[in-house]
Amino acid sequence: MVKERARILVVGGGYVGMYTALRLQQKLKRELGRGEAEITVVTPDPYMTYQPFLPEAAAGAVSPRHVVVPLRRVLPHCRIIVGEATAVDHAARTATVRTLASEEDSTGALRLTYDELVLAPGSVSRTLPVPGLADHAIGFKTVEEAIGLRNHVIEQMDIASSTRDHAIRDAALTFVFVGGGYAGVEALAELEDMARYTTRYYHNVTPEDMRWILVEASDRILPEVGEDMGRYTVSELRRRNIDVRLGTRLESCADRVAVLSDGARFPTRTVVWTAGVKPAPLLAATDLPLTAQGRLRCTPELTIDGVTHAWAAGDAAAVPDVTAEPGKVTAPNAQHALRQAKLLGDNIARSLRGEPLRTYSHKYVGSVASLGLHKGVAHVYGRKLKGYPAWFMHRAYHLSRVPTFNRKARVLAEWTLAGLFKREIVSLGSLEHPRAEFELAAGGKPSDESSGDPKGSS
Ligand SMILES: Cc1cc2nc3c(=O)[nH]c(=O)nc-3n(C[C@H](O)[C@H](O)[C@H](O)COP(=O)(O)OP(=O)(O)OC[C@H]3O[C@@H](n4cnc5c(N)ncnc54)[C@H](O)[C@@H]3O)c2cc1C
Repeated sequence: MVKERARILVVGGGYVGMYTALRLQQKLKRELGRGEAEITVVTPDPYMTYQPFLPEAAAGAVSPRHVVVPLRRVLPHCRIIVGEATAVDHAARTATVRTLASEEDSTGALRLTYDELVLAPGSVSRTLPVPGLADHAIGFKTVEEAIGLRNHVIEQMDIASSTRDHAIRDAALTFVFVGGGYAGVEALAELEDMARYTTRYYHNVTPEDMRWILVEASDRILPEVGEDMGRYTVSELRRRNIDVRLGTRLESCADRVAVLSDGARFPTRTVVWTAGVKPAPLLAATDLPLTAQGRLRCTPELTIDGVTHAWAAGDAAAVPDVTAEPGKVTAPNAQHALRQAKLLGDNIARSLRGEPLRTYSHKYVGSVASLGLHKGVAHVYGRKLKGYPAWFMHRAYHLSRVPTFNRKARVLAEWTLAGLFKREIVSLGSLEHPRAEFELAAGGKPSDESSGDPKGSS
């Protein structure tokens, strides 16, 4: 029984934020009903993104709306605030939150007070000071980036198809991906597969005209599926004519030329940066303890080390991996984030009831990756699979994992229909500029503002 009213603030509405709030909703049902507990979720978007589906969304195999889960629907007993926490003063139990209304609001940013804090803002792309990177590259962590990239790739094919200038055509058909983890490899493999298919509908662009390049600084890719399967993936990608360059770094992409550390230079309009993640910048604006890598220092019970009433998990948290040698922390992946979130919800409920906390313990079971339609690689529970069986396993696994029955049914229906009809090959990049046509009709010039909601793609 919760003794006093507990105000729980969850920062972040991703894997950890959504699943923790969901668990708390179940565990504290009675207390929520009696007004003895209150859960607030602060997150910049009103949805949770199921990131493992982003590569399939980029390939057009899953529609963008089915990659995200509406938080207001799955968390009806929580208060959802769409905004970004900009600072947390845990000593004062206060978080400062900037919302969509903050700029116009005369009262300024929100200041939320709480009794229990769950800090789960995840991670952001880990960039390096590579010339041109900030101006020309794109990441692959959000649904906006995935759909933007799909539109961009098809648009490049349209550009190549409509010019006689070889330099423009070659640059348009050169696609450079930096980083050989699952995000980079899956994104490249799915997009290449989609673009290869799409060439069927162009009279003057063939698969051989395109150049797809994967740049990886270490000597292997896809460490998540182990060494053997990583080697298989390299040979599989090379068989598809994808230029995989191991032990190579991107040195510059200024002036739209990708310059690699092996001396190669590729004029290109597409540089996708997936070379790792770092903790969300918010963590540096808190009074909570961080590791040298900038993650929150946590205990195996998912409390933040050395402070009370503060909890964390997922990409933002350095949680000791009790199944590995001392000093190791859990890797930033969905497998841990999901399981940690459930335990986190349970432990908060236990702590409010004065019960002992449980320890997080999960041994990484391996991973599955899709390499395009009917192609994949997997190493799970010691079993290695490649090709169609791995791809099928990838789909079955993620269908079982994507949150809510509603999403599962929609994704399954989409995949089933896709088996009966031809693939979608259209670019809806113009959706990113919804006012452009009206501004022209009204006699003005399309302005930057005409881009409206840049996230509103297909
Ligand atoms: C393309 C891709 C494919 C992947 N595939 C796999 C896979 O196959 N298997 C696997 O195990 N893992 C995979 N991952 C990794 C996995 O998705 C992450 O490890 C997982 O999402 C981490 O969960 P999280 O809750 O910590 O962070 P997230 O899910 O990223 O959630 C963080 C949330 O916090 C919000 N936020 C950020 N800053 C603030 C702030 N200041 N205030 C409020 N809210 C904030 C963000 O908007 C977001 O909603 C993949 C990742 C990517 C990008």
